[in-house]
Amino acid sequence: MFRKLFGLEKKEAKRGNPDAVRLGVDLEMSYCPKCNEEYRLDVERCVHCQVELISGEERLGQLTSKEQGFTARSMEIADGESMVAIREGKLRDLKPYQILLAKDRIPALLNGDAAGCAKG
Ligand SMILES: [Zn+2]
Repeated sequence: MFRKLFGLEKKEAKRGNPDAVRLGVDLEMSYCPKCNEEYRLDVERCVHCQVELISGEERLGQLTSKEQGFTARSMEIADGESMVAIREGKLRDLKPYQILLAKDRIPALLNGDAAGCAKG
């Protein structure tokens, strides 16, 4: 009884990595770094990509660092940062694009130029 309880506890602790659960990574599986396909531990290469698999722990590490990079990404546009024009049009038509980009934490500027100005 006591041993049984102990065994159960051990299993739960391993499974209970909150990051692994949240990001859907099974620490007892291997993953393809390219297509993210999940494999049993005894498989060494991805059948699709022919690349070596990484362990669940490595995958989790990659995902969490990626995630941290994402939330740490600045929404400020610094001087000299390269910008690209993706859309021209009326201001109210462009606003949804800015919101869409912000969801991916991509800063956007709505820039009025002379052509759109009433005076011009
Ligand atoms: Zn693959």
